[in-house]
Amino acid sequence: MSLIVAIDIGGTHIRVAVYEPDSIVPIAHERTRSLANQPGVYDRLVQAIESVWPKEGVSAIGIASPGPLDPHKGEILATPNIPEWKNFPLTPKLSRHFGVPVCLDNDANMAGLAEWQYGAGKGHNDLVYLTISTGIGGGVISNGHLLQGFRGMAAELGHMLIDPNGPPCGCGHRGHVESFASGPSIVRYVNEQIQAGEKSSLLAGPNLSPVQIADAAREGDSLAISAFERAGFYLGIAVANYLAIFDPSILIFGGGVSQVGDLLFKPFEDSLRKHTFHPHYLDDLMITKAALGDDAGLLEAQALARLAAGQEVAPQRRHLPGKKEE
Ligand SMILES: [Zn+2]
Repeated sequence: MSLIVAIDIGGTHIRVAVYEPDSIVPIAHERTRSLANQPGVYDRLVQAIESVWPKEGVSAIGIASPGPLDPHKGEILATPNIPEWKNFPLTPKLSRHFGVPVCLDNDANMAGLAEWQYGAGKGHNDLVYLTISTGIGGGVISNGHLLQGFRGMAAELGHMLIDPNGPPCGCGHRGHVESFASGPSIVRYVNEQIQAGEKSSLLAGPNLSPVQIADAAREGDSLAISAFERAGFYLGIAVANYLAIFDPSILIFGGGVSQVGDLLFKPFEDSLRKHTFHPHYLDDLMITKAALGDDAGLLEAQALARLAAGQEVAPQRRHLPGKKEE
């Protein structure tokens, strides 16, 4: 049997799933914490894979990982959310360990592709997908093609520069939209404001979470409300820029922070309207939540691995990452 192992590496969890041919329902599944700021992420990944590895019959592994990465070499360049992986040869290492072909692509690109093929973006030719969680990732479908770029590094939408004097971003630069609107950025802002003397029902500290802040906002905590208003404001500026570049017919939002709903999206939409340079971009623009949830990355990693194993895949995914279509 020709089994496929698909992996989705996130800032908070690593997920591994095993698929039979022609099926998108996994026969085995493992989820483990990535503990991305602590050493040993690679060992935890290998353990997670081994825990579901079938006795025989695996033909390929496909991985969705946060970028920037080099899909040609299978190397993670320097992903802000997993600090110990710098120029890390992920696919060569795994391929040696497990003895099968391994391929890799950017998790947000792959989730965007999955939303386009199977999810909220079906039927659209120009789509911007944004996932807001530990970081902010993006995937763009332009004129019916995944935008990959010369180096496979296109659509790093979270690292769009909003304010060069802004807060530090996970990547080491300042003022990227991720540094204003990701989960950790919202938490950091609230912590800083409390420490500066702002009144709040929340307690400052390292364990404060976006979910707690959202709960406090719903109960009327003005600092918590303003934290999401601020995130939405900057997100609106970034997305106004994406509209000017990509002119999409649909914006799809994934990731845990997107689940807060109006707390973020009301100020976001106000800001988007204010900062979009021409109102025509907003005509018939759909703004919607991702339909596939956490499974998007896995679904696409599975499609990618099938391709590496020479199996049939959905028509939109005809080429391996970094390779031009014939
Ligand atoms: Zn950045």
